[in-house]
Amino acid sequence: METIKEGDFILIRFKEKRYLKRVESDKNFSYKGGVLYYKDLIGKPFGISVGGLQIFKPTLEEIILYGIKRETQIIYPKDTFFIAKKLNLSEGKVLLEFGTGSGAATMVFSSAVGERGRVYTFEREERIFQTAKSNLEKFGFSQNVVIFNKTFNPAEVEGIKFDAAFIDVREPYPYVPQVWELLKPSAPIGFLLPTTNQVQELLKHLNPYFGDIEIVEILTRYYKANPERFRPEDTMIAHTAYLLFAKKLSM
Ligand code: SAM
Repeated sequence: METIKEGDFILIRFKEKRYLKRVESDKNFSYKGGVLYYKDLIGKPFGISVGGLQIFKPTLEEIILYGIKRETQIIYPKDTFFIAKKLNLSEGKVLLEFGTGSGAATMVFSSAVGERGRVYTFEREERIFQTAKSNLEKFGFSQNVVIFNKTFNPAEVEGIKFDAAFIDVREPYPYVPQVWELLKPSAPIGFLLPTTNQVQELLKHLNPYFGDIEIVEILTRYYKANPERFRPEDTMIAHTAYLLFAKKLSM
């Protein structure tokens, strides 16, 4: 059975709150119910209750939501998990991505393509690039990711035929023909666009390069886990972004 070791990440659940922490034997976690000394967790299994806290092994979703440093707006797992499947990512696939931002989406893609796959990702801002690099390294997603501190430039990945592409930049329009060149026939492409006018503008640029266009927005509503008073949470995130998917047309 896997037990908690020095340096492991843990997900602490206290009442309605979640915290992602690293186990360091000389440190502790203070909360309203007392103090948790991390040294007391070492050698114990994940999934235990101690002093009103629950201690779990963090999932990818929790690493993204509670663990990574955010230097930019990130794409939430509700969107990236869906994007990864819409792009048909699986073990061994090769993905082109820009911009990397804080690396939240890159982590999901890295996890989806596995050890034999690759994610090539571009981030033009040095400070943001450093954050993404450190997030990816800290949580073990750097082995299959090639990250460039550059504005997307097709010359950097020349000769690679990509299984899919994902673009999260404010103005993706001029890149459409360049990305088209790099993709395998029929390959899926995805874009994340926060506003409707960006979607409208992008639609004008996709023809004649991409077909089978779909635009979707993912709304999630969480419920209170109370059997006596089962009802939705009072607040929800109303809008994150529009997702546009399409597939490469050969000419
Ligand atoms: N998807 C990221 C995540 O989940 O963490 C967030 C991406 S953030 C909203 C957009 C990023 O794209 C910014 O960090 C910006 O610097 C970068 N960017 C914008 N245009 C770019 C380009 N042409 N090439 C590379 N990076 C670009």
